[in-house]
Amino acid sequence: MSIKRYLVTSALPYANGPIHIGHVAGAYLPADIYVRYLRAKGREVIYICGSDEYGTAITETARKLGQTPLEVADRFHAVIRDGFAKLGISFDNFSRTTRPVHTAITQEFFLKLYHQGLLETRTTEQLFDPEVGKFLADRQIRGTCNYCGHLDAAGDQCEKCGKAIDPLELIAPRSALSGAALERRETTHYYFPFEQFQPWLSDYIHSREGWRPQVVGFCQGYFGEGLRARPVTRDLDWGIPVPLPGHEGKVLYVWFDAPIGYISSTKEWAEQSGQPEKWREYWGDHEGTKLVHFIGKDNTIFHALLFPAWCHAHGDYVVATDVPANEFLNLEGQKFSTSRNHAIWLHEVLERWPADYLRYYLATILPETADSDWKWADFKERINSELNDNLGNFAQRTVKFIAQYLDGQVPPLGPLTAADQELLDRTAALAGEVGALLEAYEFKRAIRHLFSLGTAANGYFQQQQPWKLKADRERCGTVLAVCAQVCRALAVCCAPFLPAAAQALWCRLGQSGQVIDQPWDAAAAPLPVGQALPPDPQPIFWKVSDEQIAAEVARLGAPAPEPAMSEPTPATPEPPAAPPAVAAPEGVALVTYEQFRATQLRTATVTAAERIPKADKLLKLQLDVGGQPRQILAGIAPWFEPEALVGQTIIIVANLEPRKLRGEVSEGMLLAATADDVPVLLTTARPVPSGLEVR
Ligand SMILES: [Zn+2]
Repeated sequence: MSIKRYLVTSALPYANGPIHIGHVAGAYLPADIYVRYLRAKGREVIYICGSDEYGTAITETARKLGQTPLEVADRFHAVIRDGFAKLGISFDNFSRTTRPVHTAITQEFFLKLYHQGLLETRTTEQLFDPEVGKFLADRQIRGTCNYCGHLDAAGDQCEKCGKAIDPLELIAPRSALSGAALERRETTHYYFPFEQFQPWLSDYIHSREGWRPQVVGFCQGYFGEGLRARPVTRDLDWGIPVPLPGHEGKVLYVWFDAPIGYISSTKEWAEQSGQPEKWREYWGDHEGTKLVHFIGKDNTIFHALLFPAWCHAHGDYVVATDVPANEFLNLEGQKFSTSRNHAIWLHEVLERWPADYLRYYLATILPETADSDWKWADFKERINSELNDNLGNFAQRTVKFIAQYLDGQVPPLGPLTAADQELLDRTAALAGEVGALLEAYEFKRAIRHLFSLGTAANGYFQQQQPWKLKADRERCGTVLAVCAQVCRALAVCCAPFLPAAAQALWCRLGQSGQVIDQPWDAAAAPLPVGQALPPDPQPIFWKVSDEQIAAEVARLGAPAPEPAMSEPTPATPEPPAAPPAVAAPEGVALVTYEQFRATQLRTATVTAAERIPKADKLLKLQLDVGGQPRQILAGIAPWFEPEALVGQTIIIVANLEPRKLRGEVSEGMLLAATADDVPVLLTTARPVPSGLEVR
């Protein structure tokens, strides 16, 4: 196979609730690291996902909330999408299975299998609710357990004895919807003859190279039991209609339509990017496309067996080149549990921690070959000793020393000692070594390897003692030039793992543009001699305290602050307005808390600053706001040298309407207090990342 392009997918999250950190470890973070690396290598790659929005679980949630299934999906699609965006998961498209493009592609897929005569019909008995006039899904059925006699067992499992239930075996089955006694009625459905594809699937799995042993073992287990036909339609009103006449009330099974979501999301991406036929290049080139599905292990059967069998049967679509399924992530030694709220919800935890802290810790504990465990104490230990004391400390010492001893300019390399050469050789090899590990889906080893260079570089710094070399400017310069070159390579190679921190390091090295756009293979290039570094650089990371960790541990199992899955609570009434304890300053109206909260204040790091010709009051500032670039204009030119602002963390109004001043757009406003007619910029009491909310 000569690979021309990469098509990378992450499992479609089910839009029936928010997602937690365990999901992120399984299917999203590894895929994002992989695609960011491929882009830096200059490969042609797209990263595709979307939310999975059909199925009975969503109809059940909707029924409990008194909403429509689409309202439930709308809500969680938005929560999930926004959480991914904040974490920096860089999808090229994040679609929805309720969009028309998905209906069209899925119905065409079904019809092609149907017209090939591949789909068999089977008639079976199922339980019918005569009051609501429809067949019920297993979880809409209650009855007496046929194993233990429990009077209120669910149609799929008895909560008392834990046994899996066949709803037709339940004693006195009744409807959870209407309470009516259920009748057995015959219904006819289409089945995909999975067993016919066992020889092809067996060849397919055994001809794959480099698959994780647990994925191959899982498939072999299925072959041992013998594959069986699976229904692809069901009686339900929430789903993609079966596109054949006389099939009213029947839809395609959600596990059939969901993986086809990768194809429809790619088509949507192609249409939106103005190349409407481009999706066929990705899905139609059996020789040139490398299709990689990132999933958690519970999705293995769909991605390693069922979807490849359908795509093979359909004929127009490529089958997976690799399915790097991950094992499960646990939390403090126990499984994640939604019902007990033993979980770390992505959209909530991102309110408290920088995305890169979560990305770093997760990358070091990914459950690649065995289940692993998120422990908050370990999180603190690694953020403090690895991000802060290893990478952060080395970068900070390097740029500070260059600022203090070498006029803030990158010095030339003089004659090299064996120690200099050894570190430079390791640096030159870094991108190739990390890249090889990423291409083998060994993300944990890749980030460990990256940080082992940080350890070596800190050791070198300690050994060379540049603080004792002030008198020998050439030797001092050589040591710091070596260190600066290591920093550059670390910034480029960290970018797929820690996009915001890598960008912050890139700015502190006096570089412009985005680190993610730098060619991977040139990671170890030296910085230009004489390159000016920003004065007074701030540390990139800050340390985690015991109090913060105690607060996180206390949250586990506590009632969820936002009742994601339960009844919507009526809006909390405002406490009665008490007379203000402190009178407003005379002539100033009071604002409500809501009015205050409407103004979004955030921390922002200045990455560049310059004067604007013919506007003697204005400075043009380039900011980093949590990984997002932004430009603002500030009327502070008479009081500040632009260079002195670079690297500072300031506070901005982030949701101010953009406006144009002197032909330049300003997207926000910085905060300053004016003392004796001189503005003093507001900043934070200790270094913090950019993009944090200020309240
Ligand atoms: Zn039971």
